[in-house]
Amino acid sequence: MSRLPLVCANWKMNHTASEAARFADDFVSRMAAHRDALNESVEIAIAPAHPALDRLGRSLSDSEIHLAAQNLHAEESGALTGEVSLSMLVDLGCRYALIGHSERRQLFGETNEDVAAKALRLQGSAVRPILCVGETLEERESGATLEVVDGQLSAVLDVADGLASDLVVAYEPVWAIGTGRTATPDVAQEVHAALRKVLSKRLGAGADQIRILYGGSVKPSNAGELLSQPDIDGALGGGASLDPEAFASIVLASLEPS
Ligand code: PEP
Repeated sequence: MSRLPLVCANWKMNHTASEAARFADDFVSRMAAHRDALNESVEIAIAPAHPALDRLGRSLSDSEIHLAAQNLHAEESGALTGEVSLSMLVDLGCRYALIGHSERRQLFGETNEDVAAKALRLQGSAVRPILCVGETLEERESGATLEVVDGQLSAVLDVADGLASDLVVAYEPVWAIGTGRTATPDVAQEVHAALRKVLSKRLGAGADQIRILYGGSVKPSNAGELLSQPDIDGALGGGASLDPEAFASIVLASLEPS
């Protein structure tokens, strides 16, 4: 089963709306030079901070590059100061939303139940979830990696069981995020294959269509090798994706995995 790779940038709390527009001009022109090769070979998305969504969306409107949100609230509306709802993201034209990023889990106390509620909100909508899962260094060293990621994925599948191929999973080992330390392709593949098994058990043949991205210090120099693994269907990039040249190289690596 061939899955269309997805390469998504997660800018975190970086780039103002003006900087996002400048990035888009540069990045779109780099991608235009590869239009034929890119066409139907890879999907690209960028998740800016919420204040840049509108401006970035306008800058990307003539391109095939999708807009993604970094987060949303599970409630549809209400007295929730500082939060952002699904309908706001739909209105801005978002195609994807990250849920369960490890920074949300670790710094903002999001639980598996919170993440599952967000997935349920996204189910059946125009915005597809990119569910982030991953273990801490302590969990890896204690041999709990597969149990942790299974728990994070299963918590979502228990609640939002109608997501099917709209679901994208991103395996992001916490010890590799922003540390410059990347999982080796073999280590990442092992976890991706285990995640695929969980998906198959729960969803049957439909699991073959679900993309599992790798994230954690992805750079132009390691993207090709990571993306050549059979169960790695794209990348979620943080730091390197802030630079249009580096992000373009990661996207191009998805076309020619080494
Ligand atoms: C991320 O936080 O989603 C990420 C992958 O970050 P980095 O590439 O900087 O490790």
